[in-house]
Amino acid sequence: MPGYNLKEGFYREEHVSDDELWAAFTSLFSSQATMVSSYKYGFLKAIIDNLYNTDEELQLSFKQLFSKFAEIYWNLILKYHLKQQSKKKTYLEQIIHDSVHKYALPDGIPYESLTDDMMDDVSYQVKQKCKKYVIGALFEDTKRLFYSFSKKEEKIKIKPEMYTFICKHKVAIEKLNYYEWARFLERINESGEADHLLSKIDESAKRSNLSFYRDILFQEFENKCFYCGRPVTKDYVEVDHFIPWSFIKDDQIWNFVLACPECNSKKRDKLAQVGFLNKICERNEIMVGKKQIDSPDISKRIKMIYNWAQKNGYDKIWTPRKVALLNDR
Ligand SMILES: [Zn+2]
Repeated sequence: MPGYNLKEGFYREEHVSDDELWAAFTSLFSSQATMVSSYKYGFLKAIIDNLYNTDEELQLSFKQLFSKFAEIYWNLILKYHLKQQSKKKTYLEQIIHDSVHKYALPDGIPYESLTDDMMDDVSYQVKQKCKKYVIGALFEDTKRLFYSFSKKEEKIKIKPEMYTFICKHKVAIEKLNYYEWARFLERINESGEADHLLSKIDESAKRSNLSFYRDILFQEFENKCFYCGRPVTKDYVEVDHFIPWSFIKDDQIWNFVLACPECNSKKRDKLAQVGFLNKICERNEIMVGKKQIDSPDISKRIKMIYNWAQKNGYDKIWTPRKVALLNDR
């Protein structure tokens, strides 16, 4: 595995064309013949799922990346029983099985059911073990065009041209990654486990219990549907991903609103009309003021994501039958 033992690496500074950026990914996927575990696919997913959590310099910490990485693998291994390597168990599988034993957890428990302390413990161990193998390897396999990294500072910094490129082609790159990952898993897993592989991979970091976010929003702001203004109660309300989950693949408070069940089911995977984009920005500014959101450029960020979603095929704009006054919270 070239690159895996590097302590740090720097992306190539020169300007490169979109064709060369594509070639960086296609060479990653064509090198799959030599791959012994699925780590690179998982790490690429961890970066893509964290794409909108970078700081202004496009940096992501190992902690951010390996928290996601641990969550993805926890669910693939325990919930879906998918082996990630052909011969012996990977370190990752060992860490996960040992943690189940250590905390006496029930079989198949999803990651979201762990306590925060358990999650911190698992993702810390995964980071300590897996950072050795995956960061330098993915850096080399993408022809040093993806990111710089430092194992000492524990962060990566994405090459700006590559960042824009991935934002523009996020859905396509993600699908390519899932496809190759699924092919890899298909070879080393029994047929029952290997059914519906693409959705298992896609939903490996999807959380079903969003009541934590509902409670914060309910307490702070909203006893009305964000979209139609109809009154809601704690038992008659749903947590909606403003930018659809299928695009963003991440759960962050700044992307959640409370909606009545009707609006939530009608909106589904669509973007809400642009008036609501301004409304969520105002709402988020209030939360920044109260230090409930720690990203001061959040309005800029969510507008950027909204635009990228449109460019990635989310071009159906949804409007509720009855629209709440936009300044009405
Ligand atoms: Zn509604």
